[in-house]
Amino acid sequence: MSFSTATKNELARIISKHPCCRLAELAALIRMDGSIQISSGKLMSLNITTENAAVARKILLMVKGLFNLQTEVLVQRKTRLRKNNVYLVRIPPQQQLSKLLCQAGMLDRHGRLKDTVQEELLKKICCRRAYLRGVFLGGGSVNSPEGTYHLEVITDNEQHANSICRLMQRFRLPARISERKNWQVVYLKGSEQIVRFLNIIGAHSALLNFENVRVYKDVRNQVNRLVNCETANLNKTINASVRQLENIKLVRDTVGFDNISASLREAAELRVKYPDASLKELGDYMQPRLGKSGMSHRLRKLEEIAEKIRLEVRGDKKMM
Ligand SMILES: [Zn+2]
Repeated sequence: MSFSTATKNELARIISKHPCCRLAELAALIRMDGSIQISSGKLMSLNITTENAAVARKILLMVKGLFNLQTEVLVQRKTRLRKNNVYLVRIPPQQQLSKLLCQAGMLDRHGRLKDTVQEELLKKICCRRAYLRGVFLGGGSVNSPEGTYHLEVITDNEQHANSICRLMQRFRLPARISERKNWQVVYLKGSEQIVRFLNIIGAHSALLNFENVRVYKDVRNQVNRLVNCETANLNKTINASVRQLENIKLVRDTVGFDNISASLREAAELRVKYPDASLKELGDYMQPRLGKSGMSHRLRKLEEIAEKIRLEVRGDKKMM
C-alpha cells in the first residue's frame, strides 16, 4: 500500500467529535469530489466520488449523521484502464439535500451555486483543520518519505486552489500553487512542512512513520558523508605515504641510512615500518614524541634529499 493510501486510510477513520468539524470536512470533500446533478424536473442530487473505500464510508457516515439523508453507493469496478475501484456516493433528490448544500456552502440562500468556500465554515481552528483533512482526503497525495519530500492537493477549480493555499498559509505553511494540464496543484515541499501538515490534519501514525524514515535517511546520509570524507582523507594519507616511501627507498639505496642524520633516519625507518600511519601517528612513535609538523618537516627533508639524487641521476644520464 502506498504511503498516500495508508495516510488516507488513517484519516478516514477519524470522526470529529464536534458537528462543526464534521460539516467542515464534509464540505471540503464535496468541494473536491462532489458534483450537483439537476434533473429535468429541476430536482437536485449530489454525487461524490472517491477511489478510497474508507473515504466513501466516511462520507456516508457524515451525511447520515449530520443530515439523516437517504444515500446510495455505487461501485465501479477497476478495469484495465482504471487502477482502482471508484465509489460513487449518491444522494438522490430529497428535501433535506438543499439544507446540506447550503450549510456546506455549495449554494447560497437563493439556491445559486457558490464558487468560494464559506468563511463561516472556517471560523474556528478545529474546523480549519477538519477542512484541510477533507481537502486532503478528496484530492491529496503525499510521497513516501523514502523519495523526495512532496505533498500535494489537486483540484480543477482555481478559486478553490487559492482558498486551500491561503488556508494552509494561515497555519504558517508555505504552500504554493502550480498548474498541471487543467489542474491546479497546491503543494508543500520540505519534510518539516509535510510533517506539520500531517499533524494539523491529524494523521499521527503517518507522521510518525514519516519521521522515522526521515531520521533514518538523515542518519544514513550523515554516515555516508562521514565515510566519504574519511575515505578522502585516507586516500590523501596513502598517496602521501607512497611518495614518502619512494623517497626513503631512494635515499636508502643511494646515499644510505648511515649517511643521513639520526633524526631523519628514525623518521624514515618508522615510515617504512608503518606505511599507512598518519603523520600524527608517526610522530607518536618517535622517541621522544614529535608533533605532526615536526614529522612533516623531517619527511620533507627526506624528499629534498631524494629530489637532489633524482636531479643528479638525470644529470649523469645526460652526460653519458
Ligand atoms: Zn470545529
